[in-house]
Order: sequence, then C-alpha cells, then structure tokens
Amino acid sequence: MARKIESERRNAGGLEGLLDSAAIVLLAVGIIGTVASLVWLKLYGILPALSILINTILVWLLLRSIAEIIRLLKKQAGLPYAGDISYPDATVAYTCSECGAMLHSESRCDSCGANIETD
Ligand SMILES: [Zn+2]
Repeated sequence: MARKIESERRNAGGLEGLLDSAAIVLLAVGIIGTVASLVWLKLYGILPALSILINTILVWLLLRSIAEIIRLLKKQAGLPYAGDISYPDATVAYTCSECGAMLHSESRCDSCGANIETD
C-alpha cells in the first residue's frame, strides 16, 4: 500500500514567468543587435551599439523588476507564483563597541587596541 506525499511544484507560468522569458529574449536580441552594429558599421557603430546595449539592459531590468513586484504581491496574498524572489547577499560584519571600527580580528580591535570578549 502506497501513500501520497505532498510536495510543492513551482512551474514556470503566470505573468511573472512570461515577463522573465520576455526579458531574456529581449536581452539576447539586444546583444545580437549590439554586435551586429559593431560588425557592420565598425567605428561608426560604437554609439548605436552603446545605445542599443544600454537600452537593452534597462528594459531587461524593468521587466525583471515588474516580474519581481508581481511575485511579491502574489506571495503577500498567499498565492502561488512562478520563479524565485531575489534576495541580497548578506554578510555579517562586527564592529568594536568602544570605538566603532570594523573588526578584522576576533580577539583584539586593530583601531583602539581593546580586547574583544568572546562568547
Ligand atoms: Zn576599537
């Protein structure tokens, strides 16, 4: 006798998935346009290539941002969403309680020389 096991599956889809796909396609087209501009126009193609590249990156960022907003709204509403929500890379930094300088050592402050308590 087998039993069913519940598992969550996130399939691509929804408007946020479509926006992600459109962003990738537009980025690829923009890079191809940039390279084509440089190849065909050579020196005269630098400005158009830069313009195409900057516009492509801005449109890619805009579409990804809109997709992220949709994901956040769906998450807040408790609805399923496609893709992942981006998170910043977090790092932990310690500072001295005496002088406020960033600690590079776990035992002693390089700035004021105070000994650091260990847990
Ligand atoms: Zn210090």
